[in-house]
Amino acid sequence: MQNSEPKFGGMDRRTFLKVLAASGVTATAGAAFMLPGTNLMVMPNSKGYLVVDMAKCMGCVSCMMACSMVHHGESSLSLSRIQIQQDAFQKFPDDIHMAVCHQCEDAPCVNACPVEADHVDIVHGNIRTIDPDRCIGCTQCIDACPWLPKRLQFNPKTRKVQKCDLCANTPYLDEKGGPGGTQTCVKVCPVGAISYVEKMPKQHDPYAYNVNLRDKSWVEVGHTDKDFKLNEGKV
Ligand code: SF4
Ligand code: SF4
Repeated sequence: MQNSEPKFGGMDRRTFLKVLAASGVTATAGAAFMLPGTNLMVMPNSKGYLVVDMAKCMGCVSCMMACSMVHHGESSLSLSRIQIQQDAFQKFPDDIHMAVCHQCEDAPCVNACPVEADHVDIVHGNIRTIDPDRCIGCTQCIDACPWLPKRLQFNPKTRKVQKCDLCANTPYLDEKGGPGGTQTCVKVCPVGAISYVEKMPKQHDPYAYNVNLRDKSWVEVGHTDKDFKLNEGKV
């Protein structure tokens, strides 16, 4: 599902960290900023992430409908910021894929935005999010996202781009969202296939956001982890 390994302004991570150390700059506080004399964006990590267990997902799209509802006030698959794709030619558990925003450490989408609409929101746990009032709909953020399917969507109604904000800005949800609050997809999934975690998954591992959320009841109905090709990370 990954196009290519995301780079830190064209550097690998180790070189990037050396540059940071040499400059004495840390990215633990404050919003994103350009490292002086470079084209490197330094940004604090998101405090929250969504992970999924594709062996549990049954493709009911409840999460997609709920995502659209709390953000836009209507249930529309095309307005959902979480995406489920079904592949009729694959067998379980590879017949369904769920695409969640990785809240990337180096967020190429933030780096690409020419008007700082796609930004790091320090009020809401450093999530990578888009300010609709600033977005000009140029879609450069979509082009920059290194994952397939892209984790941002062009909204044809508003003619702006949107992305998962961990429910930080949900006008139709009567609960606090964002890190520390409610994530609607996590709440509505009838089989608990989505989870919110604070620990950052491995950024460049295409399977790191696919985790094992199963419990011993799966063993009792005859499954073993060997039935699945999924990453065995526990959350
Ligand atoms: S579409 Fe909007 S958020 Fe994306 S790069 Fe253009 S202005 Fe920024
Ligand atoms: S939209 Fe894409 S590039 Fe931006 S934070 Fe999410 S996964 Fe990373």
